[in-house]
Amino acid sequence: MFIDSHCHINFPELAARMPDLLAKMEENQVTHALCVSVDLPDFPGVLALAEQYPHIYASVGVHPDYEDTPEPSVDQLVQLSQHPKIIAIGETGLDYYRLEGDLEWQRERFRTHIKASRITRKPLIIHTRSASADTIRLMREEGAGTDQGGVAGVMHCFTESLEVAEAALAMGFYISFSGIVTFKSAKDLQAVARAVPLERMLIETDSPYLAPVPFRGRMNEPGYVRHVGEYIATLKDVPLEQVARQTTENFLNLFNVVR
Ligand SMILES: [Zn+2]
Ligand SMILES: [Zn+2]
Repeated sequence: MFIDSHCHINFPELAARMPDLLAKMEENQVTHALCVSVDLPDFPGVLALAEQYPHIYASVGVHPDYEDTPEPSVDQLVQLSQHPKIIAIGETGLDYYRLEGDLEWQRERFRTHIKASRITRKPLIIHTRSASADTIRLMREEGAGTDQGGVAGVMHCFTESLEVAEAALAMGFYISFSGIVTFKSAKDLQAVARAVPLERMLIETDSPYLAPVPFRGRMNEPGYVRHVGEYIATLKDVPLEQVARQTTENFLNLFNVVR
């Protein structure tokens, strides 16, 4: 069995197809999916999906790319996460690729999420793009990792170097790979995935974005996470069953999901 550790099935293009998505998950032995919150106005929709479907979990957080959106406070994140189906804080992090100018607000928002994670003991879902040095620095400054009393979390849709992966691993974080790792051009990332121990790895779709090969360019969905798992198995030269079992166990352990 597989788990999609990061998807956005609350987005209208996917939410409109829920019965179809659930059938595809079952067909591909994808047993659970984590629907990740990107802003507060959308949070009720994310929570509603988690409440409606037993094998859908959810997170609460405000994505670093969302500029004109209500800013969350630590208290607010703590309050909103007090629900058994909310298993993580995020997605949060830094993204210097899409936005320019003074991004101090992004760093402040990231610090807020790390504080909420430390209080609630719910793991962080971290997004980092063109900002790895600051991301790691803030994780250290705010004590996000298990080495500093935090509960760590996952570096989602990982596309950074092995050095960045190792810094996160040292703080107790897991590394999650998306369909990007299956792309022909992703040679460097494939080398990183080969080096990251399976015991610290998660797999995800980040759907509706980033469909893996052989669906590249189409709309992505949780059922396709199986293809990320298959690619990792080939890359690491281990049985698919081992990738499925280990990444599932990693997810359930990290997010304290009762089996
Ligand atoms: Zn992201
Ligand atoms: Zn995402």
